[in-house]
Amino acid sequence: MNDTATLAHRPAAQGVEHFDVLIVGAGISGIGGAYHLIHQSPGTSFVILEAQETFGGTWWTHKYPGIRSDSDLYTFGYRFKPWTGKPIATAEEIRAYMGEVIAENDLDRHIRYGHTISAASWSSAEKRWTVEATRTATGEARRFTCNFLYMCQGYYRHSEGYTPQWPGMENFKGPIIHPMKWPEDLDYTGKKVVVIGSGATAATLIPAMADKAGHITMLQRSPTYFRTGRNAIELADELRKLQVDESWIHEIVRRKINYESQVFTNRSFSEPEKVREELLGLVRAALPADYDVEKHFTPSYRPWRQRIAFVPDADLFQGISSGKASVVTDEIEHFTQGGIALKSGEMLEADIIITATGFHMSVMGDIAFTVDGAPVDWAETVTYRGMMFTGVPNLAWVFGYFRASWTLRADLVADFVCRLLGHMKAIGAQQVDIGLRDEDGDMKILPWIDEENFNPNYLLRSMHLLPKRGEKKDWAHTQDYWAEKDEIPQIDLTDKAFRYS
Ligand SMILES: Cc1cc2nc3c(=O)[nH]c(=O)nc-3n(C[C@H](O)[C@H](O)[C@H](O)COP(=O)(O)OP(=O)(O)OC[C@H]3O[C@@H](n4cnc5c(N)ncnc54)[C@H](O)[C@@H]3O)c2cc1C
Repeated sequence: MNDTATLAHRPAAQGVEHFDVLIVGAGISGIGGAYHLIHQSPGTSFVILEAQETFGGTWWTHKYPGIRSDSDLYTFGYRFKPWTGKPIATAEEIRAYMGEVIAENDLDRHIRYGHTISAASWSSAEKRWTVEATRTATGEARRFTCNFLYMCQGYYRHSEGYTPQWPGMENFKGPIIHPMKWPEDLDYTGKKVVVIGSGATAATLIPAMADKAGHITMLQRSPTYFRTGRNAIELADELRKLQVDESWIHEIVRRKINYESQVFTNRSFSEPEKVREELLGLVRAALPADYDVEKHFTPSYRPWRQRIAFVPDADLFQGISSGKASVVTDEIEHFTQGGIALKSGEMLEADIIITATGFHMSVMGDIAFTVDGAPVDWAETVTYRGMMFTGVPNLAWVFGYFRASWTLRADLVADFVCRLLGHMKAIGAQQVDIGLRDEDGDMKILPWIDEENFNPNYLLRSMHLLPKRGEKKDWAHTQDYWAEKDEIPQIDLTDKAFRYS
């Protein structure tokens, strides 16, 4: 180990820019990561490379009517910046909030928009990553080097959504639209619209389109759980009346929400039947008395095996109650010129079909990784707490929570990255490798996520491409915010799992 070398201030090759840290992606995780680097690792040079022409990630890519969060912004917002609006927020409001973080911390000068990264190669001899990017607008190739790669690229491909192929799709006379590619000029006034899918996207689109459309139908293969309630947090409103400082309100409301969601999550494991009845009770209360809740809103799985979307002010159910929207639970046989033929024999007429059928997982931003010349197969790696990976030095990934807001984890991972960089600097290390310890030798190696625990289709489709987890919690993304909030800050950086050189 070279005592004088630190992570910072090493020269770049000609025409190549060098940074201590290169952040991939200017979504909520990347912008948060940059904030934490500035405040927790002052003096660290960094750049954010972002493929799109602006910041926002998910909240820029998706432009369909009504696009909004399905978790509250007190916890989806950053720990360090109070949220002062309604808990469920539109994409525009989320971007405005992120824009303030950028402006208040002068982050713009660190971001290079329109840079798509295609390859990253680690050299143990040079102790650095070489990152190949392409200027999206001009096709110009750009090369960067960095000591540490901070992967904030999310988990799905932004360029296109996932659309299953059904027989006869080519015969349908109207547009078939994936919500990720919403045509700005789509006029659906008075039109018959069918939305395939029943996740958060469908639940958002349907109330937003119901008034203008002639009729809108949610076509689902199987039902999903929803939660409903007012789009307000009484405690926050009360504290505001008392003129409590917004930073206090933010912290207090976060604690309340996190406490309540922990209780809810624990109950969904300890008494799933009760939780199920409560969720269905909310749905029943929002729909007409004779509505077939059993058929259309009663999932076969236990609560929380898939994300539960929040429906603010029961707007989805209001649309159904008013007759402007309806739900069909059936399977697609084939598309016809005028709509969809269902397996039950029924025909669903449509002028426009929207495929709210999810996304393609993107493992590490579809970047081709090599380490010392050998291609990285992520499925061959084992994760250290869902953040780092065996055989891949100097790299951390932000993968958030399913049952709690994503950003809670983005903040925790950022704290960890800053602490790790500080530790490396302190001991004069330039490389950190993650490796299984002797005592992990007979540990079972398993898929990234336990299907029994959480099983949305996009994950199941891509599980074979994702890193592996181990049986012990050090070697897994446990999805347990309530344990990780205490455990991640206490990770012992001198543990044998971390090998420094
Ligand atoms: C419609 C929708 C609604 C959601 N609502 C919620 C919610 O309410 N609550 C919640 O907790 N989670 C929600 N999620 C999950 C959501 O994706 C995350 O919460 C969060 O926004 C992810 O932020 P991120 O910054 O990690 O990734 P992203 O938002 O995916 O941003 C990643 C950025 O990295 C860039 N990038 C990727 N690859 C490359 C590359 N090779 N080169 C350069 N740039 C690259 C992308 O262009 C993108 O801008 C939602 C997801 C979707 C799709």
